[in-house]
Amino acid sequence: MNTCDALSISKETTLEALKKLFGFDTFRPHQEELVHGLLSGKDAFGVMPTGGGKSLCYQLPAAILPGTAVIVSPLIALMKDQVDSARSNGIKAAFLNSTLAPEEAQEIEASYVSGDLDLLYLAPERLSLSTTVDLLKKNAAGRPSFIAIDEAHCISEWGHDFRPDYLFTSRLKEIFPESPLAAFTATATELVAEDIENRLNLVSPVKIRASFDRKNLFYEVVSKRDASTQIVEFISQRPQQSGIIYRTSRKSVEETANMLVANGINAAPYHAGLPAEKRSTTQDAFIRDDITVMVATVAFGMGVDKADVRFVIHADLPKNIESYYQETGRAGRDGEPSHCLLLYSAGDLGKLRFFIDGMHEEEEKVRARQLLASMDAFASVPSCRKISLLNYFNESCETTNCGSCDYCAGSFESVDASRDAQIALSAIMRTNNRFGAIHICDIICGANTAKIRQFEHDKLKTYGVGKDKPKTHWRSVIDSLLAAKKLDLSQDKFPVPQMNDAGMEIMFGREKFQLAVDKRVVPEKAKHRAEEIECDTDFFHYLRDMRKEIADLEGVPPYVVFADRSLRAMAAYHPASNTDLLTIPGVGQNKLEKYGERFLVEIRDYLINHPELKALKPSGKKQAAPAIKKGLTETFRTTQEMLGKSMSPSDIASERGIGVSTVEGHISRLISEGETVNWQEFISAETDKLCRELFAEHGRQALKPTIEAANGKLTYGQAKIIAAVMDLE
Ligand code: ADP
Ligand code: ZN
Repeated sequence: MNTCDALSISKETTLEALKKLFGFDTFRPHQEELVHGLLSGKDAFGVMPTGGGKSLCYQLPAAILPGTAVIVSPLIALMKDQVDSARSNGIKAAFLNSTLAPEEAQEIEASYVSGDLDLLYLAPERLSLSTTVDLLKKNAAGRPSFIAIDEAHCISEWGHDFRPDYLFTSRLKEIFPESPLAAFTATATELVAEDIENRLNLVSPVKIRASFDRKNLFYEVVSKRDASTQIVEFISQRPQQSGIIYRTSRKSVEETANMLVANGINAAPYHAGLPAEKRSTTQDAFIRDDITVMVATVAFGMGVDKADVRFVIHADLPKNIESYYQETGRAGRDGEPSHCLLLYSAGDLGKLRFFIDGMHEEEEKVRARQLLASMDAFASVPSCRKISLLNYFNESCETTNCGSCDYCAGSFESVDASRDAQIALSAIMRTNNRFGAIHICDIICGANTAKIRQFEHDKLKTYGVGKDKPKTHWRSVIDSLLAAKKLDLSQDKFPVPQMNDAGMEIMFGREKFQLAVDKRVVPEKAKHRAEEIECDTDFFHYLRDMRKEIADLEGVPPYVVFADRSLRAMAAYHPASNTDLLTIPGVGQNKLEKYGERFLVEIRDYLINHPELKALKPSGKKQAAPAIKKGLTETFRTTQEMLGKSMSPSDIASERGIGVSTVEGHISRLISEGETVNWQEFISAETDKLCRELFAEHGRQALKPTIEAANGKLTYGQAKIIAAVMDLE
């Protein structure tokens, strides 16, 4: 390839390829600059938040450019999913890592040499072998078309995820001077970004630092009262949505998971105390939608590339904003509206402080305390959550109302709290600025603690004057005064509130003080700014079930087949032809060929059974979604009737022109709804026995292990039916 060829690739060509391969009409912010950079032979450096769409930035140029691009990626476990996902878009991708048999590896090496691949994923330790470097020189161009380093922050010792293996990548410029080098990361700190650029020796790269504002994420913080009830209420408003709940301890992870299961929610625990195999099957089941809610410690998440996580709940206060932001970032990578809920309690703060006090290194302690203080301020001070997050990452925000956090959605009300502020300030002054907020609240509420007796604070004028209000109220008055700089924090080892001049103004009644009061009794259902396609929910779930079947058959995660957004668009616009399907976001040529017909048949079938559903116009005004119906719909009844005539699932399938697995899906649902079905007529006693034995061994939460162990003697549909029967036994 020469650079002139590359330069001549027009914007139209790239847009066409974007549509054909990925089914997208437009680029996400900054993707285009990075893609064009690589296409014109330049180095590139993209810092984009999780879900920003980094993979497309190298996959698209890899598909357009002649030869093969090499992608360095740290997680072997993820490579297969990445390759599956690229292949499902018609991109010729493969990986080389230690999980391959020697013959498989040889075959892939041969395809690289002959130029049959667009993309080759490599783990860094593989890349550093001299045999690999030699291999990469053996194709027609004598080098990769370009090299992209994913998760590039792993090269930096400043980062939170340094990997010595990555250091080798700093030699790539010297080994392959002709191959453009690209680096991608979601790290937010400037220090790490600079370090990456220097270590890789990037030559005047096209540099992009995308905004860390994830518009589709709604941030909400509510005070933690009864975490279990709050979690169950939150989840029951979102049936069948995938989500992650983070808890601090293994014990609370187990307890919450058990509690959810007892409430009929398909949840499972994940923490470092579980055997590695159990962790990997649970993670797999979550990615494949066999488990809906993952309850986990922070051990879970790195390398979980699930695009349709709809919510992340932090049921305990995180240690710092960096980890909190990264964990919430796992929601909504597909760009669809998603919710991040934090349950805040000052009690958690105490626990974390206690933990920090136990650290050995003094410097580490100081740093940990500062990080925790920022986290606490974020959670406890009512103000726009997005603005405080973005400011934390040194990014300014154009608006004062983000529209996608609880504060901006109007969860707080501003009330005059001048008198309460005076009480708090006076208690601080009368105790000579020497005590922490907790003790000050104790004084105001008239508590009888040893410390109060010791310092005779029960003799103060302010002692007990605020008994009529809870301590949490007084705490938030002090926090708000601090946030509004009407109080300072001392610089000691244990910082305490200090009176300042601005506070004096309030104290002497020359200025008023407003307090934001939380109006929510129960968490409000969020109003999202990012637009979600409105569609009939039953229809959407029907398409999701079908997607799940296809995904299971192909052994890929469901979102690799189609994203939620594509299914919503189908359920809303009712495509009836290939041309219609191509207008659906996320449907490119390859997916059309692969799944188009199946989806068109099912959509038609569903609509015949639901004549009341009307297609919405893609660009038209939003219409109200049809009312959600409960119970069994027509299509189930048709299957039931046919079963009544002793027809087998395959007869019914061919008669109705739908898949056998769809019919089996109907049957398992009929059984769960308590309908009588003579399933023994089409499932033999032998199959039933085998299935139950395998369930006993592998559990019933995920069907995949059972199906695999059955070695072709059991289908997903049959296993689903038997599981439904067993549920009722
Ligand atoms: P990252 O690696 O930055 O976390 P991904 O590459 O996994 O992000 O992309 C996140 C999601 O965004 C994927 O579901 C992907 O299909 C989707 N996506 C990427 N680019 C676009 C685009 N131009 N239009 C619509 N969706 C996109
Ligand atoms: Zn806001």
